[in-house]
Amino acid sequence: MKVTVLAGGVGGAKLAHGFALCQPDVCLTVIVNTGDDFEHFGLRICPDLDTVCYTLAGLANPQTGWGRKDETFEVLQSIGELGGPTWFRLGDKDLATHLERTRRLREGQRLSEVVNEFCRGWGIRARVLPMSDDPVRTMVKTREYGWLGFQDYFVRHACQPTVQEFAFEGIEQALPAAGVLEALESSDLIVIAPSNPWVSIQPILSVRGVASLIQSKKAIAVSPIIQGQTIKGPAAKMYRELGIEPSPLAVAQHYDALLWGLVIDEFDRGFESTIKSSGIMVLSTNTIMHNEQDRHILAKKILAFSKDSNPNQPQRREF
Ligand code: GDP
Repeated sequence: MKVTVLAGGVGGAKLAHGFALCQPDVCLTVIVNTGDDFEHFGLRICPDLDTVCYTLAGLANPQTGWGRKDETFEVLQSIGELGGPTWFRLGDKDLATHLERTRRLREGQRLSEVVNEFCRGWGIRARVLPMSDDPVRTMVKTREYGWLGFQDYFVRHACQPTVQEFAFEGIEQALPAAGVLEALESSDLIVIAPSNPWVSIQPILSVRGVASLIQSKKAIAVSPIIQGQTIKGPAAKMYRELGIEPSPLAVAQHYDALLWGLVIDEFDRGFESTIKSSGIMVLSTNTIMHNEQDRHILAKKILAFSKDSNPNQPQRREF
């Protein structure tokens, strides 16, 4: 069965890993957000791609969810002693990824080629694709500081400013990376991971051709919002600041016409009937992935759910 997962960083990487554990029954492609990418010390940093790859390769730091395990920070510490910027935590092993990626990009390789070769080096069997080889930069308009680059908002300001609007610079010109549309087209199932809908999934859906293709396929999203909260990160805060009560219903309304089904946490079972009444199939189950086993179980439940059919399901209509 061909499964394509749309992923941001931590939440996306965990569920992608769950599907990777279903290989070889599942042939897995992961399409990853690159709107968070930025330049730092002249290096190209791709936080979501690296989180997904490190997780699939078993190299991720389980405590932080980002960066590599068994990491040291000698270079960053030495940079700090020289008065350089240390707000973005770059580990020594992680730096090797950024150095080598930047070298290859400067030599003219496309990001998707670099990722593919890195995945081979790390022994990753799944296909990992950046959403685009062209630069897209997520910008966050805040009440306090106006427009901020994503990492400025996310890391330097620790998500404290109040969000008003998002923009994805370069999205109009960005073409889907080679293989993205083909993977979606040939998928038996598309899974929108429990990543931040505003800044991790929306950039992928905004790449030309992606949303319309998903609409023609069977797509299931997993809610990153559980009991009005996130496990990590600012998604719930963003919903609130934009005047929307964060809930699985808000997530259903966010993706709306793209969805065949939505997986919500069992704590949010109360939303099931309202979401179902719009014709979206709903699975309520444990969606909190504490460990590898939880990831695998959730992926298997989603595969089983995708084969459900309910003749009494109301006609799909938009909210
Ligand atoms: P980031 O780019 O590292 O912030 O990562 P993502 O956008 O992929 O993930 C952030 C979202 O993942 C947050 O909204 C979290 O609530 C959600 N998330 C993280 N872990 C889990 C989990 O185990 N289960 C569910 N349902 N959501 C999760």
